Amino acid sequence: MKRISILGSTGSIGTQTLDVVEHHPEQFIVEGLAGGSNLQLLIEQVQKFKPRKVSISTQSLAEQLAPYVPEGTKVYYGDEGLVEIAAGTDADYIVTALVGSQGLHSTLAAIEAGKHIALANKETLVSAGHLVTAAAKRRNVMLLPVDSEHSAIFQCLNGEGTGDVRKITLTASGGSFRDRTREQLHGVTVEQALQHPNWSMGAKITIDSATMVNKGLEVIEAHWLFGLDYSRIEVIIHPESIIHSFVEFNDHSIIAQLGNPDMRVPIQYALTYPHRLSNPSRPLNLAEIGKLHFREMDFDRFPCLRMAYDSGKAGGTATTVFNAANEVAVDRFLKGEIAFLQIEDIIARTLDKHETAADPDLEQITAADAWARQTARNI
Ligand code: NAD
Ligand code: MG
Repeated sequence: MKRISILGSTGSIGTQTLDVVEHHPEQFIVEGLAGGSNLQLLIEQVQKFKPRKVSISTQSLAEQLAPYVPEGTKVYYGDEGLVEIAAGTDADYIVTALVGSQGLHSTLAAIEAGKHIALANKETLVSAGHLVTAAAKRRNVMLLPVDSEHSAIFQCLNGEGTGDVRKITLTASGGSFRDRTREQLHGVTVEQALQHPNWSMGAKITIDSATMVNKGLEVIEAHWLFGLDYSRIEVIIHPESIIHSFVEFNDHSIIAQLGNPDMRVPIQYALTYPHRLSNPSRPLNLAEIGKLHFREMDFDRFPCLRMAYDSGKAGGTATTVFNAANEVAVDRFLKGEIAFLQIEDIIARTLDKHETAADPDLEQITAADAWARQTARNI
């Protein structure tokens, strides 16, 4: 049996993780759950999975939660509560399913406590990839990818040495506006941006898919997870999201991982690696699908992806700033305060103003993140 805790249990990845747990009750024990502000759902989860510890974002929500938790479940709140769920239980695996670089401190705390990380919260690797990967190496814990593209690459590399890899290619659906020209992006609404063609996900990542920032974050995530130079990480548009990503080896053999788009597959693989169990997802029927399509990535159409590569190559605090500026811009867009195309503008102008610091420590990362947020807000 594996003991797990989930940071962000009430979100899209969090609820799908609990779905996987429910399908294999003999495999998993839930030690801790941390949620943001969805009190009702967290109550239901706590009553069903009876974790030792639960945390919610504020003290007042914790007071409302307390009367409903089963005997033996301790209630925590705020940033300290999050760290308690990350590092203060008997869990062997922590699923990081928070959204944004706010997940960095709890992820580092979990690693320091020797927990393996099932990593969904890609912003932590984008913001401070060198610190997270160095800590994981030092503490000898695994960073197991949950992101579907990275799970695919991880599966393709099973038993292969990265020295034999020529390049990896991440597939991108293209998001909700993939068939629009740049001119046709003027005046698009939040509701339209939230209509992802293939995946049902949290709001922030759905907007990131429409701007192609998500693929940019994933390129940087892949750089840190697989230790590959940016020149060996490519992106291709694949509207069906059936091939989740692929690896090309030195002999030009390509190994790809396929499946219907369902996050429960990569979530489960991260938690059962190196074993494979049955899964509630629908099996893939290629004859039914008939055709798969691919097109070259257009960096003029999706300038955010170019900015992500440039930030990644610049290294240091550049990716921290790229990520934080985007978080602010997406938040403003979701609130209806800025137009869709202003997201890329805010990121570009924040990056322009930034003096990149090489090899930053945690304090410098935190400062760069705060600076980028303030700068993006002012813009
Ligand atoms: P989401 O918005 O659906 O869920 C985020 C969760 O974090 C919620 O449960 C929220 O309550 C919780 N949360 C937010 N602030 C908190 C705080 N301060 N303390 C405790 N909990 C807090 O987001 P999501 O779509 O599940 O994405 C989570 C992460 O996984 C993101 O980094 C995203 O990029 C990544 N990811 C998601 C998908 C997907 O299919 N949804 C796929 C690949 C990667
Ligand atoms: Mg992905």
